[in-house]
Amino acid sequence: MTKLTAAITVTDLEQALAAAVRAAELGADLVEFRIDTFTDEPEAVTELVQRSALPCIITCRPTWEGGAYDGDEQTRLSVLEHAGLGVRKPVYIDLELLAYQRSANLRQKIGLVVDDPGRPRETDTGLILSSHDFGGRPSDLLRKIKEMADASLCRVVKVAWRARSLRDNLEAFELIRQQVKPMVALCMGEYGLASRVLAKKFGALLTFASIDESDGTAPGQPTLSEIKNLYRWDSLDAETRVFGVIGFPVGHSMSPAIHNAGFGEAGVNGVYLPMPIPPEYEHFKATVSSWIGEPALHFGGASVTIPHKENLLRFVKEQGGEIESLAERIGAANTLHVREDGSLYACNTDYAGALDAVCDGLKIKRDELAGRRVAVIGAGGAARAVVAGFTEYGAGVTVYNRTVGRAEALAGQFGAEAKPLAELSGCEADVYINCTPIGMHPDVDASPLPGAGEELPKGFGPGVVVFDTIYNPVQTALLRVAADAGCATIPGTEMFVRQAAAQFTMWTGEEAPCEVFRDVLTKHLSASG
Ligand code: NAP
Repeated sequence: MTKLTAAITVTDLEQALAAAVRAAELGADLVEFRIDTFTDEPEAVTELVQRSALPCIITCRPTWEGGAYDGDEQTRLSVLEHAGLGVRKPVYIDLELLAYQRSANLRQKIGLVVDDPGRPRETDTGLILSSHDFGGRPSDLLRKIKEMADASLCRVVKVAWRARSLRDNLEAFELIRQQVKPMVALCMGEYGLASRVLAKKFGALLTFASIDESDGTAPGQPTLSEIKNLYRWDSLDAETRVFGVIGFPVGHSMSPAIHNAGFGEAGVNGVYLPMPIPPEYEHFKATVSSWIGEPALHFGGASVTIPHKENLLRFVKEQGGEIESLAERIGAANTLHVREDGSLYACNTDYAGALDAVCDGLKIKRDELAGRRVAVIGAGGAARAVVAGFTEYGAGVTVYNRTVGRAEALAGQFGAEAKPLAELSGCEADVYINCTPIGMHPDVDASPLPGAGEELPKGFGPGVVVFDTIYNPVQTALLRVAADAGCATIPGTEMFVRQAAAQFTMWTGEEAPCEVFRDVLTKHLSASG
């Protein structure tokens, strides 16, 4: 079973021991004590091993391998020897392949501390031989792995390199699957998260996580809480299906929190990861093709956001997949589904999310939208999906926009009307939908209504629905004045929840736990201010 290992930078004995207690509380199986700068008192290292709340790995990483130890090898060796002096031994000592290869003295000395397959000894300490590249995948990666595996003292082979794209993770998985000795293969940096979370799915010996966001020992390391609670470490196994959100940047997306919580609630064996892919189509195509093409990954699909919504349509078309007709007309898709038979489907759940949120507000079914008057404020990407959805169901849509030409172009394509934003105060509609970012955090007092929010549309009043696609803040200035005027109001969180719900059901065949989605979203929004 893959061990969840807390990385602890040791600067003080008691502090490190307290960190190990904390790691145990947070669910770690092992700790790695990084003693790079804790080499002045070797006896303290012996004590550290004796008193650790969890079994431990001892690592003293030199600067030439990306660590902080800048002393001589003799001293380093002496400290590592001290790690093995007590009754309790470290589970592993980690040493760089390069150090191991270049010094016969070190090999001989370390052979007295770690388990030697050729010589039965009274120690359970195994030797991890490791190689790290903070620049990228080393060209001689496979040769290094072979040399580590061939070294007689080596019990575990560990490689880590900075991922240049999400594709690097696939090689890490392949290396783990081909292992001849227990293996750790990790990708560093923002593209490498999958290798850390899915280490368990592919049977790596261990993965590393930090106790707090500030104390990671390698770029891209998740925290213990993230890996345990957000990515549901305990439920990951070889059959876990993988989903994600493709975008650039994608680090602040709330979708991983929502979908992973949903998988947990519905008992779905799935995990949902952020998937950063640079904007160009070639990156999208190469990355998504490679993830789909790896059967052992069980990649089931993705939410797709800016700047890839058009790229998704193009990709699925090129691959001979199916595209929802309205997504085709909108010119953007936000959902990829890799079906069981391997075929691809792209659709747009943004418009569906908006339609369902408004229909619920009006207490009607989509079919009953015919003839309703809908005022859409804005003519950008969100407005496009909204206008397409409402006109599809027969609503009479008028697009109000600052740049009238843009409103006209959008309206013309979907059989709607176009008017300048300044004319909104004369508008009498059944539904008003804000599709501009006006009023979004931090500019929370701004309103898309004319006269800096002073001129309410004529139609505002009881029986009318006002929907703001903005979800941060949940209660916008527009919704506040609409509620004061007696309108029913719908926040953008409802669109977000429902577009995610439609994705969830498509991927899993299960009804989405929308209440869980709402709770997670609310918590995230209140935490982010
Ligand atoms: P976009 O393509 O950039 O379009 C923005 C629209 O807002 C344009 O029509 C623009 O008018 C108008 N606008 C921007 N600033 C304005 C100002 N100061 N005064 C008047 N009009 C202004 O953006 P988008 O992708 O459509 O996104 C718009 C909003 O939708 C986002 O802020 C987001 O909150 C929301 N959204 C919500 C969800 C959800 O799930 N709840 C999903 C997607 C989007 P011009 O044409 O004159 O420039």
